[in-house]
Amino acid sequence: MELSSLKGKISNEIIESLAARGFKSFTPPQELSIASGLLEGNNVIVAAPTASGETLIGELAAVRSILMNGKKAVYIAPMRALVTEKFEEFKSAYPYLKSAISMGDLDSGDQWLSEYDMLFVSTEKMDSLIRHGANWLPNIGCIIFDEVHMLGDLSRGPTLELLITKLMKTTDAQIIALSATIGNSDELADWLGAKLVVSDFRPVKLMKGIVSDGAAYYYEGGKETRMLLNGSSQIREIRVLQDTLKMKKQLLTFYSTKRNAEAGAVKLSQNTEKALSQEEKSKLDKIGEKVLNTLEKPTAQCVKLSNLVKKGIAFHHSGLLNAQRGYIENAFKDNLIKAICATTTLGLGVNLPAHTVLVRDVSRHNGINSERLGANEIMQLFGRAGRPKYDTEGRALITAPSNYSVGDLYNRYIKSGPEPIDSGLGVAPVLRMHVLSFIAENFLGTEHEIMEFLSKTFYGYQYGSNAHMKNVVSSVLRDLVDWEFVVRGESKYDATKLGKRVSELYIDPMSAKWILDSLAYAEDALGTLYMISNTVEMRPYVKPTEEAEAEFVMYRKMSSAIYENESMDYGYYDPLSAFSTAMMLREWIDETDENDIIKKYRTTPGVLYIKLSNADWLVYAAIEIAKIVHKSIRRLVETRVRIRYGIKEELLDLVRLEQIGRVRARRLYSNGIKSVQDIRNNADLARSLLGGEVAKRVFMQLDTNA
Ligand code: ADP
Repeated sequence: MELSSLKGKISNEIIESLAARGFKSFTPPQELSIASGLLEGNNVIVAAPTASGETLIGELAAVRSILMNGKKAVYIAPMRALVTEKFEEFKSAYPYLKSAISMGDLDSGDQWLSEYDMLFVSTEKMDSLIRHGANWLPNIGCIIFDEVHMLGDLSRGPTLELLITKLMKTTDAQIIALSATIGNSDELADWLGAKLVVSDFRPVKLMKGIVSDGAAYYYEGGKETRMLLNGSSQIREIRVLQDTLKMKKQLLTFYSTKRNAEAGAVKLSQNTEKALSQEEKSKLDKIGEKVLNTLEKPTAQCVKLSNLVKKGIAFHHSGLLNAQRGYIENAFKDNLIKAICATTTLGLGVNLPAHTVLVRDVSRHNGINSERLGANEIMQLFGRAGRPKYDTEGRALITAPSNYSVGDLYNRYIKSGPEPIDSGLGVAPVLRMHVLSFIAENFLGTEHEIMEFLSKTFYGYQYGSNAHMKNVVSSVLRDLVDWEFVVRGESKYDATKLGKRVSELYIDPMSAKWILDSLAYAEDALGTLYMISNTVEMRPYVKPTEEAEAEFVMYRKMSSAIYENESMDYGYYDPLSAFSTAMMLREWIDETDENDIIKKYRTTPGVLYIKLSNADWLVYAAIEIAKIVHKSIRRLVETRVRIRYGIKEELLDLVRLEQIGRVRARRLYSNGIKSVQDIRNNADLARSLLGGEVAKRVFMQLDTNA
């Protein structure tokens, strides 16, 4: 279908934008969506492979809503990296439309967003915007839910499902749902009241196979074929790499753990190094230096990653720093890095395709035992194979570990179709948070209304209104009343002031209850850190150290006093690991070197930063809760500043000044300058310790504060 056939149906701006990007015709899923009434305002769900052009389907509906109906459009995705990527793309395609991105601070209504036409938000952010009563919700004309198959994901699915249900109930916006291929897209379509578009179109052909005995076993057009892999290695993943490098292509390998991914990169690095040209080597040397110097002081992980990058390979997982991730992704897109060894999170979200994708581990440890990846998950990873502009064909392989038979893997992952997805809504922790928000927003007030609403969810669609759900909701309501977040009035439930605030703070009501109870016991910094660490939001915890075990004796009374008093079912109760996490945070605010913290708690720089940012958020929540119950907030506020800067109490006064952080404050302090007043009194010494430009800016603040 030619673009020009849309003239009259859609504004010229869109047609011009598509032409400017060099698009001449529509892909099959795009064409089918248009035929299904995409441009007449119908709800549409598209289930198609990665890179089949789903984004453009959402874009057409969004721009039509903005330009032709004068209404806002919202793009919602579960992964932040994806939201950022789509926002950047849209901004450059439509510079004259007002587009905004909002993901951070979950305690804000962001009323400024009302000025914008096109909004890009994460699922959680959209949920929290509704809780804060964003006043622009009625102006939404089109909502795009990307990666809607995530509904079946146990951790992120339920919030997404409730958000969709809520938006369907409260707005009359057109809904566009974009999904990977799944087994029951017809059910999702029926639930959403949407036209279903299913397509197996891929811009590059995909060869799927299992690797064993130096060969790949493919299944193509109903036929099985065996193809020998170039190379000499007996180790399967090295053999696949050798074959890929021989074709002058790149490899993306998926592992089940961060450690495996790192070990994999080391194992493959000899081969990638040999494949580099002199020019590539010198470019990679420079990138390797940037990776090394991302932090003030490189950690062991930075050193390892930097050395690998110089050899044309990298590992990629949640333990990397954001800047490092950026360097690596760009170097891969520029074909300098020849292989990436990643954990499966890379397969979700960011657009980083490679000619060959190899799934090294088909199982993963879920904390209790080892489980196999589902066929849909494997398909998602496979979807990264083939770079649309560079490859005519992509290939996706699985290495058969010795304990799995080739035939078994072949049947399960290569020959079979996608699996259906299931709602994960029937669990208490998720519902606890959302039921409180329904009541706090005055959205729903009675148990009957809540059940009625839940019957409209995908869970309700799949299972009907069942006794299990009723029990869960009743027990959640009982807890919320017991904890005084909700009161039972004559005709309906109402949120208390505390309950309303807890809902806005976007934390699990059980975390809020625990914080509330432990405020009185948290007498020192470690107690405060334990208070915020023993929450579901700080999970996964670090492993307990021996030191934590010894010191926990002192703090155990804090939790036992609370737990013994309450008839609470702390399903995630693991106080020792939570305490160990608190001790890690204490080392940070005691100015222990980052390298030492990472080594001692067996963690990574990326994870440490995630924990610090969660801790910052939870201390903020604790401050807000303490204010409502009229408890002192002094220690909490101090702890928050100490977490922000990673400083001991004695530096608190100095970091009030901009430009003075952990390192400079310590330098001043060790030279006898211990407060802002001391800076004034010893201006010359302070100037020489801070150095020219910084000193100038610091003294400017002193002048204005005088
Ligand atoms: P998906 O969202 O399905 O994973 P994308 O929408 O990101 O895939 O599309 C993959 C690539 O194809 C992008 O680079 C996009 O610009 C390009 N593309 C999409 N639609 C067309 C089209 N009609 N003609 C040419 N290229 C297209």
